[in-house]
Amino acid sequence: MFLGHYAVGLASKKFAPRTSLGALIAAPILLDLLWPIFLLMGLESVSVEASGNPFLRLHFDSYPLSHGLVAVIGWATLFASIYFGLARYLTGAIVIWIGVISHWLLDYIVHRPDLPLSVSSNRLLGLGLWNYRWPAIAVELLLLILGVWSYVRETRAKDKIGSYGFAAFIGLLLVAYAGAAFGPPPSSVKKLAVVTLFTWLLIPCAWWFDNHREPREPRLTDSASAGQALHADPLAIPRAPVL
Ligand SMILES: [Zn+2]
Repeated sequence: MFLGHYAVGLASKKFAPRTSLGALIAAPILLDLLWPIFLLMGLESVSVEASGNPFLRLHFDSYPLSHGLVAVIGWATLFASIYFGLARYLTGAIVIWIGVISHWLLDYIVHRPDLPLSVSSNRLLGLGLWNYRWPAIAVELLLLILGVWSYVRETRAKDKIGSYGFAAFIGLLLVAYAGAAFGPPPSSVKKLAVVTLFTWLLIPCAWWFDNHREPREPRLTDSASAGQALHADPLAIPRAPVL
């Protein structure tokens, strides 16, 4: 799963409007941010094999630290705790926790049975949607469309960075996905890991253009409480993004 994880981040904005999209996207892609690091450290392993279906070219031999369900719950809790410690925004922390967990659930739909439960468990899970190339692509695109639709419904651009930056980000995701879905297989595991590391750069990009967007319309409850807060403290700035 690739686009679907980003879709979760985009859709999360509705539920945690004060959290930066950078953090909201980092959560659902966190496992795939960690995975190349563990690969390069030799803690996890993958092999590239020939297949007519590009989604079946990677054989995930072992990745319990990044993709084992028990570890995933740990990563989710760690990330949500750090976020809460910095931002003090509980809703954002909960949405981030769910976002990290969602990665495993979406991977479970597409992966062949290769997802571990824990480091010690031999049980491997996966429904294998990747066996069906076009339905897998359709699901990814549909999720991205839903994510973009939700994000655009919740936010609007304040300036050109907010609109063109966002459009460029989505374009970049589509190009990267097309590369995986239609391009040649990676020539080596090391190259695959290094290329995957570049996804880290998408986090500051998302943070950047999200900073140049604002909530489309204040929610009723938010505006009511913001109004009260303004009344109490004229210097209060309601609805400022936290982190
Ligand atoms: Zn993954």
